[in-house]
Parts: sequence; structure tokens; C-alpha cells
Amino acid sequence: MSMREPSDDPAPAAPQQASLQSLRIKWRYASPIIVIHLIAISAFLPSFFSWTGVVLAVLGCYVFGTLGMNIGYHRLVAHRSFACPLWLEYVLVILGACCLEESPIVWAALHRQHHHMADKEGDPHSPVASFLWGHLGWLVIKSDNAEAGRSIVRYAPDLTSDRFYSWLEVGDNWIKVALLSVAAFFVAGFVAVTIEGGPLPEAVRFGCSLLLWGGAVRIVAVWHLTWSVNSITHLWGYRNYMTPDNSRNNLLVSLITNGEGWHNNHHADPASARHGHGWREPDVAWLTIHALQSVGLVWDVALPSPGLAEALEARALRGAAGGAHQN
Ligand SMILES: [Zn+2]
Ligand SMILES: [Zn+2]
Repeated sequence: MSMREPSDDPAPAAPQQASLQSLRIKWRYASPIIVIHLIAISAFLPSFFSWTGVVLAVLGCYVFGTLGMNIGYHRLVAHRSFACPLWLEYVLVILGACCLEESPIVWAALHRQHHHMADKEGDPHSPVASFLWGHLGWLVIKSDNAEAGRSIVRYAPDLTSDRFYSWLEVGDNWIKVALLSVAAFFVAGFVAVTIEGGPLPEAVRFGCSLLLWGGAVRIVAVWHLTWSVNSITHLWGYRNYMTPDNSRNNLLVSLITNGEGWHNNHHADPASARHGHGWREPDVAWLTIHALQSVGLVWDVALPSPGLAEALEARALRGAAGGAHQN
């Protein structure tokens, strides 16, 4: 693999924001984003704080964020980077649904659209024009580039024809599953205190603490981790590959997202289950997939294609030559 210094490649032209529909707010997303952020802040009130809750939030970032979003939603459903038993696929997807980042069908459709149109007009969340747009704006402001219905038809017919994914979609069942998981945190805390013979108010307080930290704080944390991949790794970092977009490899984002920040590598070879290419690019999500593979729970794992750097370089040079001829 050829390792390049931070590239001087000119950034692609920013997608035009002409698709914005007069700053119309998407309340379906804006409302829960506002409310759950406020609820998460209340977790820091002394009466709701508990170290058990903090530990659950941190562990939850791996269980729901890495296993559910990074491995389930992203590398498995959106890219089919590996195969696994159906029960394991469903477990990973359910964990992902509990992060409240849309249903797997909508998430995968918009993500495949992002890869297809990356940093060009049609990209749902390119941050090239605005960091805030890529991080959060595209979720809360209507735009033609992020029309879920159209995106599903074009990019996710394989998922809409699947009974499990269709069931999650119907009547927003995936949201009900997520709410059940959050309620389970309250029940666990309530029951733990009750079994120890604690008073009812303490059981309620501890249940609320686990609900807030294991649910709201963890959901908000995973949101910002995912959004950081959309925003930061299309703006700042180094490039190993001459992809036609502005994707970057970002160490900080990779560390906090367990491997999703090697985003230039990922755009270079979206099918690969391994995003970190080499020991300098740690990828906990990949190590998890590799561990599952070693015990026979995962197979048909896609790895980075040999000659990838050279192939992308040749394509970029052909594109530049074509552009020069046209000018
Ligand atoms: Zn990207
Ligand atoms: Zn991807």
C-alpha cells in the first residue's frame, strides 16, 4: 500500500445547497434530537448521577455504537462486507436500531447514496460547503439530497424485499424496539435496588439514573460519533488513496469511533470490512469482525483489494486528463 502525505489534491467542488427546501425543518428528526439532548443533560444532575450509569454509557458506546451501528448497520447491512448467521445479523441490527439513527433501510439507503455521490450534488450530507451541514444540518433541514423515500427505491431494494427489515420499517417498529431497550435500563435499576431491599424512591431514582445514562447519554454520544464521521472525516485528515471525493483518514475520529475514522480508506474500497489499513490505523470494529471470524460466526469477509492505490491513482489521472481535454 502506498502511504501518501496529506494530499494537495484540490477538494471537489462543494455540493450546491440549492436543494435546500427554504429552510423547512424536519421535525421528525429535530424534535427527538432536541428532547433527547435535554434529557441527556439532566443525567448530570446530582440526583440522577451514578457511576454504574456512567459505566453503562461507556460500555453502551461499544455494544450499541460499535456492534450495532459500525458493524451491523454500516459494514454488514449497507456494504455487505461479510456474511454471518441470520440470528447474528438480526442481533447486530437490533443493537443498531437502539441508537435511534433511523431504520436500517433508510440508514443504508442514504449511506449508499452518500458513497455514490460523495461530496457532489446529490450527497445527503457532504460537509464540504459547511461543517455544521454535514454534522447535523442535513438531519434537521429538508433537502432534495436527503429524501429517504426516493433514496430507498434507488439504493435499498434488497432490504425492502426482506421481511425482517420491512417489519422494522412498518409503523416505525424499530423505534418501539429502541424505546423498549431504554425502558429495560429503568427496569434493571429498579429491580436491583428492590432486590437489595432498598426503599421505593431509591429504586425509582436508580432506575432513572440507568435509563438516563444507559439510554439518553449513550444515544447522544453515539449520534455525535456517527455525525463526526460524516463531518470531520470529509474535511480534516490525511489521504492514502486518490478517491474522487474529499474523504480523509482522521486518527482522533478513528479512536473515538473504534475505526470508522479511516474514512478515505473506506471510500477507496467501501466493500472492505477492514477500514484501518495497517498497524498504524487501529480499527476495533475490524478486530471484532476478525474475532467473530476466528470462532466461525463470520465468513466471506471482504478485505482491501490488492493494487487499490495504483488503480485509484490511474483513474484519477485519467479523469484529470479527460478534464484537461475538455477545457
Ligand atoms: Zn463519506
Ligand atoms: Zn460506508
